[in-house]
Amino acid sequence: MSTNKPEYAFFDGKIVPIGEAKVSVMTQAFNYGTGVFAGMRAYWNDDERQLFIFRAADHFERFRQSASLIRINVPYSPSELTDILIELLRIEDYHADTYIRPLAYKASMTTGVNLDDNDGVTMFAQPGSGYVKDVEGLKVGFSAWRRVEDNAIPARGKISGAYANSALIKTDASLAGYDDALVLSEDGHVAEASTSNVFIVRKGVAITPTITSNTLEGITRRTLIELLRNELGVEVVEREIDRTECYLAEEIFLCGTGMQVMPVAQIDHRTVGTGEIGTITHRLRELFFQVVTGKAPRYRDWLTPVYVPEHVGK
Ligand code: PMP
Repeated sequence: MSTNKPEYAFFDGKIVPIGEAKVSVMTQAFNYGTGVFAGMRAYWNDDERQLFIFRAADHFERFRQSASLIRINVPYSPSELTDILIELLRIEDYHADTYIRPLAYKASMTTGVNLDDNDGVTMFAQPGSGYVKDVEGLKVGFSAWRRVEDNAIPARGKISGAYANSALIKTDASLAGYDDALVLSEDGHVAEASTSNVFIVRKGVAITPTITSNTLEGITRRTLIELLRNELGVEVVEREIDRTECYLAEEIFLCGTGMQVMPVAQIDHRTVGTGEIGTITHRLRELFFQVVTGKAPRYRDWLTPVYVPEHVGK
């Protein structure tokens, strides 16, 4: 593996060279966003010479749930999808942190919007660095956009078309000089960031919007709730969050497969806490990377090894 581009993809029921994994411009999902996707990571552990997929079963379960929300049938169980992914990663022979993108989509080639039964599933993976040791806190603002409402496009699943909303939020944040933006729901409460969930810390309590706040049901969010409660002894409350509570928070961090655990240093040009990475964010971030790279024995169940361990294979 020499480039950062994938060489293969799972497409139409088999693994093919990436150049053969193509859809027509007439494909319904291309025209109307009637697809769903997952974003997953595998982490390379150099000591064990092993690549660990993080929470594969949970990601593939949500993938199937996202698909069902828009009547896409994924004809593979989470464990079959995991097997396909393992095969793909082995063929790519990645020995580095890797980003994984499964997609399921409406494949029919008519211009109608009806959700018929013509579904496709594909998957590709590419190297992308996971752990960055020292990060600076992000500069974040509140978006003028509103988060897509669950009654318009299901917000709790990863529906491709809904990412026009994320793209507007993220792009306008960048153009305004921010790294990302927090976005409110129509009712004025905090939903999440452009492609990640959010936690604030007030009086030592970690607070995150409920999953009925037009938030994506984030797997990192769920992971961090467990780690905060069980490992760091931090109380976690899921409730509505007001915009101005963010101005008063001691700590804010974003989380998701892409962001992992990312501190926020400024919100709407106001310094968060001391402006340095907060204690809870710091401890949580360190623990998270221990967990995802297989260095926390209690959480090995969340990891799926890709390669046959060397001492067994030889
Ligand atoms: N919200 C949105 C809109 C996202 O796209 C993501 C990334 N999948 C998240 C939150 C975080 O979800 P997860 O932790 O499952 O990656």
